[in-house]
Amino acid sequence: MKLYNIKDHNEQVSFAQAIKQGLGRQQGLFFPLDLPEFSLTEIDQLLELDLVTRSARILSAFIGDEIPLEVIEKRVNAAFEFPAPVVGVSEDIAALELFHGPTLAFKDFGARFMAQMLTEVAKGQPVTILTATSGDTGAAVAHAFYGLENVRVVILYPKGKISPLQEKLFCTLGGNIHTVAIEGDFDACQALVKQAFDDEPLKKQLGLNSANSINISRLLAQICYYFEAVAQLSQQQRNQLVVSVPSGNFGDLTAGLLAKSLGLPIKRFIAATNANDTVPRFLAAGDWLPNVTVATLSNAMDVSQPNNWPRVEELFRRKNWRLDSLAYGAVDDETTRSTLRELAGLGYISEPHAAIAYRLLRDQLQPGEYGLFLGTAHPAKFKESVDQILGQTLPLPQPLAIRASLPLLSRELSADFSQLRQVLLDLPQ
Ligand SMILES: *Cc1c(COP(=O)(O)O)cnc(C)c1O
Repeated sequence: MKLYNIKDHNEQVSFAQAIKQGLGRQQGLFFPLDLPEFSLTEIDQLLELDLVTRSARILSAFIGDEIPLEVIEKRVNAAFEFPAPVVGVSEDIAALELFHGPTLAFKDFGARFMAQMLTEVAKGQPVTILTATSGDTGAAVAHAFYGLENVRVVILYPKGKISPLQEKLFCTLGGNIHTVAIEGDFDACQALVKQAFDDEPLKKQLGLNSANSINISRLLAQICYYFEAVAQLSQQQRNQLVVSVPSGNFGDLTAGLLAKSLGLPIKRFIAATNANDTVPRFLAAGDWLPNVTVATLSNAMDVSQPNNWPRVEELFRRKNWRLDSLAYGAVDDETTRSTLRELAGLGYISEPHAAIAYRLLRDQLQPGEYGLFLGTAHPAKFKESVDQILGQTLPLPQPLAIRASLPLLSRELSADFSQLRQVLLDLPQ
């Protein structure tokens, strides 16, 4: 597989290099040089297969002969150990539940596949994972790499801006997992990570690798569950399918669009955001004007400068798709609350991120269409808000219950790169 840097098309790398490097020069994102396409018959055949066999074939179509299909299949089998069920919510709308993995969020898919691929291509060389999280990435990355040999993980998160339970899920592991609470918002954490990657000596010395949603291996893994969703639909539901994606950094939407570019029949995507609505305002008016990030109920989407957006634009350019075919919308906290109550009334307990995607879907779905929204996290991950909004007490699922009683092991740091640099250099081997 060949990939190029979106900011400098002359920089081309292999899949192994793209995984290890994360970003290219000038912090440019890597993008596949070849965009494979399946015929209608091939799509139908793929949809008949089980999740692991099908996913290995999809990934192999991108990765090519750099990694043999059998190896990919073995790795996918280790990464995707949990289901992604489609659950009906109303007559013409269903949820794709992506939260049945170890950290109860969709990021388990990408993080676990990435950990598997990195182990495959690193060939025993030491690696330091440095990543910023607005909540769920951190947990998924920490659990995906926990206990793996020759890998150290450093996770930055905005202090006090993620849910206490979320924090417990990944800041209580210890071992090769190091967590740092930064005095600042998610964008500040993301900026620190970018600075570290610009620091060539540091990068070399530590074998720095970012495991957040900019890593191409995570995006490729996420393509697979869009196929898994369609495989569970009837022929009629597949015909006019609209998919609504709750978006923060826009990795999930990028993966969905890549699934469409492979030939998966998806009529339209809805880019759904909270009040951090840089993209909806851009799509409406054509101006890219990020505001200061505001805290919302759907905190994993509190991102005003989404780092995967250039890939969305690149894909539209490469496929000659019109950007105005992308539907969009932003939902404020008050509407998120009432929508969670509406869903509970339909017998479906959800959480703020998915509720935003559902809301725009039910507002925008046309007669004859079938709608799917992504359930990106388990409701219990956002228990404080969900309990309060719905006036009931959700039980804690087991992975959370176990961790909730353990002490936090994070250290605190101001949003200052020189301090972070020292922390990185002082890490135990
Ligand atoms: C990360 C996350 C999102 C946003 O996904 P992106 O790929 O960053 O757009 C949505 N919901 C939840 C629960 C998340 O953790």
